[in-house]
Amino acid sequence: MSAGPSAVRVAVLYPELLGTYGDGGNAAVLAARARARGMGAEVVEVVGSEGLPQADVYLLGGGEDGPQRHVARLLAQEDRMARAVGAGGAVLAVCAGMQVLGSAFRDVDGSVPGLSLLPCRTVEPLPAERRAVGEVVVEADPSLGLPPLLGFENHGGRTALDDGAVPLGRVLRGTGNGVGEASVDGVVAGRVVGTYLHGPVLALNPALADRLLEWAAGVGPGGLPDGDERLAALDEAAGAARAVRLRMAGLG
Ligand code: GLN
Repeated sequence: MSAGPSAVRVAVLYPELLGTYGDGGNAAVLAARARARGMGAEVVEVVGSEGLPQADVYLLGGGEDGPQRHVARLLAQEDRMARAVGAGGAVLAVCAGMQVLGSAFRDVDGSVPGLSLLPCRTVEPLPAERRAVGEVVVEADPSLGLPPLLGFENHGGRTALDDGAVPLGRVLRGTGNGVGEASVDGVVAGRVVGTYLHGPVLALNPALADRLLEWAAGVGPGGLPDGDERLAALDEAAGAARAVRLRMAGLG
């Protein structure tokens, strides 16, 4: 069945390299929510050394240092990622994916140049015994108009924001970017969102999924078509999962 002319195209970038935490599940969430709103959706996996297709939303996941460096090289080829962003594509970049999009990240050899598509850089890591592992609750930046964002983190990297950069939000529980006293998580620049919330985080945060779909559809906040009973079921499941996770984080 054709996905239809106005179908949302979602590209999952190099999941065999940056897919350690099942971040590709974010594509399933976007597709399910789009279809439940009658929008149609198409998911494309970009593998090997393939270039990037034209898409509305690009997803980058988390992973280990070696694959992370490899993905940075792939995305720099022919300015692949910069072109995708320049063409208006929205991006959700998780952990290693976010680090790669900043101006620098780290591996065993020290600092490595990133793609400079996000106003951040990943600096000297946390000491091994302080690796950031556990539940995270983030109060979304007021400019985003989103409810609290919930997730799980597992990273050694610490990410500093450039002056004036907008974080995804303020950390209420957990580590997030791990730099400075009042910690924040992630960074947002235009339609590019970076976060340390790992895995299929959109399943737990439907409002963030819908924001990506709004960008893809070119509509403002609340402007997506109404959904059918499938959307209600997704929202109910997310609500139940959010209640459990908030309790786990000591906030429920
Ligand atoms: N290697 C990076 C770090 O530890 C990314 C880890 C990840 O994607 N979970 O900071």
